[in-house]
Amino acid sequence: MLVLPPPWRLPRRRAKALESFICTTIPTSPMKTPITMPGYYSWNQFERNCCVSELLEECALAEGKLIHGHIIKAAFYPDVSLLNRLANMYAKCGCLEDARQLFDKMHYRNIVSWNMMITGYAKCGHGEQHYAQLESLKLFCHMQLDGKKPNRITFAGVLSACIGLNNVQQGKQESRQVFDKMTARDVVVWNVIIAGYAQQGCVGEALKLLSQMQWAGLMPDEFTLGSLLSVCGSFLALEEGKQVHVHIIRIGLELSTFVGSALVDMYAKCKNIDVARRIFDTMLVHSSVTWTVMIAGYVQNGLGEEALKLFSQMQMEGVKPDQLTLASVLSACANLAALKVGKQIHAHTLASGFLSHLSVGNALVTTYAKSGCIEDAHQVFNAMSERDLVSWTAMIGGFAYHGFGKESLQLFEQMLKAGMKPDHITFIGVLNACSHSGLVHEGYQYFNCMTHDHNITPIADHYACMIDLLGRAGRLNEADNLMKTMPFEPHANLWGSLLASCRIHSNLELGIQAAECLFKLEPQNAANYVLMSNIYASAGRWDDVSKVRKMMKDRNVRKNPGCSWIEVKNTVHSFVAGDRSHPQVEEIYEMLEILARQMKAAGYVPDTNFVLHDVEDEYKDNFLIYHSEKLALAFGLISIPHGIPIRIVKNLRVCGDCHTAIKFISKIAGREIIVRDAHRFHHFKDGLCSCGDYW
Ligand code: ZN
Ligand code: ZN
Repeated sequence: MLVLPPPWRLPRRRAKALESFICTTIPTSPMKTPITMPGYYSWNQFERNCCVSELLEECALAEGKLIHGHIIKAAFYPDVSLLNRLANMYAKCGCLEDARQLFDKMHYRNIVSWNMMITGYAKCGHGEQHYAQLESLKLFCHMQLDGKKPNRITFAGVLSACIGLNNVQQGKQESRQVFDKMTARDVVVWNVIIAGYAQQGCVGEALKLLSQMQWAGLMPDEFTLGSLLSVCGSFLALEEGKQVHVHIIRIGLELSTFVGSALVDMYAKCKNIDVARRIFDTMLVHSSVTWTVMIAGYVQNGLGEEALKLFSQMQMEGVKPDQLTLASVLSACANLAALKVGKQIHAHTLASGFLSHLSVGNALVTTYAKSGCIEDAHQVFNAMSERDLVSWTAMIGGFAYHGFGKESLQLFEQMLKAGMKPDHITFIGVLNACSHSGLVHEGYQYFNCMTHDHNITPIADHYACMIDLLGRAGRLNEADNLMKTMPFEPHANLWGSLLASCRIHSNLELGIQAAECLFKLEPQNAANYVLMSNIYASAGRWDDVSKVRKMMKDRNVRKNPGCSWIEVKNTVHSFVAGDRSHPQVEEIYEMLEILARQMKAAGYVPDTNFVLHDVEDEYKDNFLIYHSEKLALAFGLISIPHGIPIRIVKNLRVCGDCHTAIKFISKIAGREIIVRDAHRFHHFKDGLCSCGDYW
């Protein structure tokens, strides 16, 4: 009996041994006899996938089929690279049809999968050559519709398909090799060449070719123009995009759904969202693609509320969303913490099977994590049949922001065991986990292993996490030293993090030093002045407090207006400080008055230091009760039934007074209140907050 070694990469000889083992044990009926390999089932999925991939590398059709049968029989989930190997094996052995069948069944295809099929068809040299090469070009179009970016290998494949096709059409005259020598430069060939230039970032060159093509008497088709527009969008080349638009109008293709969608997409990506919407509105027919690019456009431009509005309009018109629509809408939900809409989409994905799409699964995990439902995020993560770096990173970061440091770090270890390579964003999550849970020792360990074991050079964001970690733990001098030893000049974020820690630990000396740097680096950022005046206030240095306020006035520093969102009955309501624009404004302010009275009776004293936070200086103490998060909360209390948590999102750090007030209100009203501010989550319950007043 052969026992396989546990390491996932088998030595070549052992691989051969396993190959012959499979062949000799079950030569006739691979489907009936399960292969028994001691030690095999103790491997994890990744190791199995790698082992079988290795075996497939140099095998003949018969063995390959045997292994394929074994995969089905053993009921383990082949990952995308194993499926690619399997399909490649069929293609190499001349069974292109079998390869295609496998390819069509794949839930997720990466660039390697597409390249393999495109090249496979292009190189198919027998009988039905014409058909195969057209199939190669068709796949090239599908690939772009699927949102995959072609690379050099793709273009090499497509070009060889074009040359082959050209030769077939010319009755196989030979030795013409490259595009320039072709006589029949048909539209397809032009398309490929133009797309090729454009994808490499040579948009100007591609535009020249577009004119040449027309001079040669050929009309560019939807595909030529669509691919050019998509590139203009990705490279934010608005001027070039406008030139293509002119071509489109000249040819009269502006009413085509395909070209129209590409135009909407291009303008949205180039931040001309109003123009995009105008084109969308003038289009006669909207395909699901058109709806999706417009919705995604709103999301990319930070207009989540508009995206959700358009999505409900899309549903009312009976257009079925696809996985890209759902992923876009979900990321709008994530930014607005629009949980109800997010949950509806979750139900929809379960019913439609879209959950198996990686982008949808990832977006759901992010939405739940950002909406404060970390358990739901974890459930979706566990249910995903395939996970990529984005999925792992989202979950690790999600745990970290909710203060579940241990869980976050455990998941990170699990990720490494699954053979996934972390990137610098994963490490931001890991270091945040240490920071939010006060794990200084672990923080240092991960910070060091990032460079030594994973070859990732720490960037400013990683240093910011470390400084935050040390600062929160009160090790301010260590934080200060780390900043001094950094290989680059500390930027504003790092000083800001240090300043925030100085406020928590009332370190006046270091605070002044950090603030001085910050006032120079970002003289217009109000948050720094506010923090510094708070530090002075808690040290009782009122003269300095007024000096800071005067400085703000002299420098004409404008505060970023605080804004809070709350979702009630599928609609997201937004509030700014002192907002009176809401239709239920009377009830909201009445509720605030009642709350103010009850809070005072319970012992709450307004902390007027924080008047500065949201409001212009000259204002009275009672302005505190009109901060945006309090307005949102009052509205939540009126409209959300008892027993259901109230969830609020704020664009800035929640102010100290609101934090105290919400603690009181959670007790008085007997409600669970979850606030996501610019820095973390706060779960308020029974007069306490999960952050331990540490944010
Ligand atoms: Zn406030
Ligand atoms: Zn809190």
